[in-house]
Amino acid sequence: MDTHRLSQTVQPLLVWFQAHARTLPWRADREPYHVWLSEIMLQQTRVEAVRGYYARFLAAAPDVFALAALPEAQLLKLWEGLGYYNRARKAQACAQEVAARGGVWPDTVEGLLALPGIGPYTAGAIASICFERPAAAVDGNVLRVCARVLDDATPIDSAAHKATLTAALSACYPAGHCGDFTQALMELGACVCTPKSPKCEVCPTQSFCRAYKTGNVTKYPVKRPKAAKKTEERTVLLLECNGRFAVEKRSETGLLAGLWQFPNVPQKLDAQTAVQTAQSFHTDPKELVLETHKTHIFTHIRWEMTGYVIRCNAMSEAFTWASLAELERDFALPTAFRQFSDELKTL
Ligand code: SF4
Repeated sequence: MDTHRLSQTVQPLLVWFQAHARTLPWRADREPYHVWLSEIMLQQTRVEAVRGYYARFLAAAPDVFALAALPEAQLLKLWEGLGYYNRARKAQACAQEVAARGGVWPDTVEGLLALPGIGPYTAGAIASICFERPAAAVDGNVLRVCARVLDDATPIDSAAHKATLTAALSACYPAGHCGDFTQALMELGACVCTPKSPKCEVCPTQSFCRAYKTGNVTKYPVKRPKAAKKTEERTVLLLECNGRFAVEKRSETGLLAGLWQFPNVPQKLDAQTAVQTAQSFHTDPKELVLETHKTHIFTHIRWEMTGYVIRCNAMSEAFTWASLAELERDFALPTAFRQFSDELKTL
């Protein structure tokens, strides 16, 4: 790997970052809890959406001690909509471990990697931003920038490539400005060297960028072909009785573990069979009100869901019954099912 070329980008990037860094709430200080929290949220969500989550999360859990003690239902509710709910649980496990260390975070990559849920990216981000260690934090943005600067066609979704780039970049880190360099690279990827239509004309590293010189910018980054997602049909029963809807908790293991859901079954059922299924749950269905369709895409699977709103006479004890306002306020309902409650609110 051409580390000389990577190291040529350091100074121009630092100068550019000083002048162009966005003001973001998690950049107000270099407190490890703040950097860690923002990084795990940013791994799955856009900056603008993270602002709200970050503020709500900090209000409920201002430090690792508060997060360590947060009841799981509240934790999942705060995380609702961010997806990857196991990350929330691992985040709490991590907070518990740091709390057990008296609130002191490890200040090396190795020490950080030993904490639950912290991988090389997050460890690099915390070690460089909070502790000025020469440790690169290589995410999708950084992979793309480097692929273009180096004119490198290695697929960026290879773990080996990520490890090689992390080591190569770390070797270029400028003493005393490690945190700034990490953030400058991320910022360049987010604001200038964007996936589509990169703004090369204003890029501080343009004169060192091989892809720009060779006219190959749009060729990068190269990714391995993705396996097709499996599609699963499901039927979701939106059972309503006296303004309350039936919900149940999902199993504590597997997809969306421990979150709430509307009762649902595999396969697409026709309306009559859906009503019969509602009957088998002892809800005494009286009227099918609406049929609706939703799609939800997970990392490896796609759910095609048919929802039936069925008015019932009986609140079966098999379920918890909640009003739409209660569902909104008190229940961690993943986006796959939240789509239905959002539609119900409009009826
Ligand atoms: Fe990205 Fe263009 Fe800058 Fe190269 S010159 S790093 S392609 S924005």
